[in-house]
Amino acid sequence: MPFPQRLIDGYNAFRAGRLKAEQNRYRELAESGQSPQVMVIGCSDSRVSPEVIFDARPGELFVVRNVANLVPPYAPDDAYHGVSAALEFATGALKVRHIVVLGHAQCGGVQAFAEPSAPISTTDFIGKWMTLMAPAADKVGARGDLPRADYLERMEKASIANSLANLLTFPRVQYLVGADELSLHGAYFGVATGQLSVRDPRSGDFLAVDANFIAR
Ligand SMILES: [Zn+2]
Repeated sequence: MPFPQRLIDGYNAFRAGRLKAEQNRYRELAESGQSPQVMVIGCSDSRVSPEVIFDARPGELFVVRNVANLVPPYAPDDAYHGVSAALEFATGALKVRHIVVLGHAQCGGVQAFAEPSAPISTTDFIGKWMTLMAPAADKVGARGDLPRADYLERMEKASIANSLANLLTFPRVQYLVGADELSLHGAYFGVATGQLSVRDPRSGDFLAVDANFIAR
């Protein structure tokens, strides 16, 4: 099959529109290099693009995306660590000031973990990857009488908190946060409503963002 025509059409629209408007910015970024202030760790889900949600320009966001926006804990072994490598680059070379873990509603990865009926086993890549969510699931506890959607939302939000905790297992992240040179944040995107919520670090609650929202 040929290269997807949808992408050719999309690129031509980009070239005629946004690239034209931002050509100078692209040239500057090519010469001076990127210096984004924010790293986003998001889900691969096609509905939750950080650049779209945050209306970001080229060079503004350093993004790593994976299934269910998970961060594995610090593990200096011989395995291949994609998130850890991106984190090292963002904090060591780029010196980003913020890391945002961006979770979302209707996350397929979270559903795969929460519902044993899903067609995924623990021997599959996703099954093994999603075991990173186990500490979050322990905190949420059993579903009990909770409606399915509420339970999954709790799991999605608890998983964001767990990823933030795992970020702090990286010595460099822990040092930078302690030195007030780096801040860690959680956020949650409601796919159906388009509503973004930001995690209050004190209460752990997710607060809806509107035009009057003042970040703490
Ligand atoms: Zn997801």
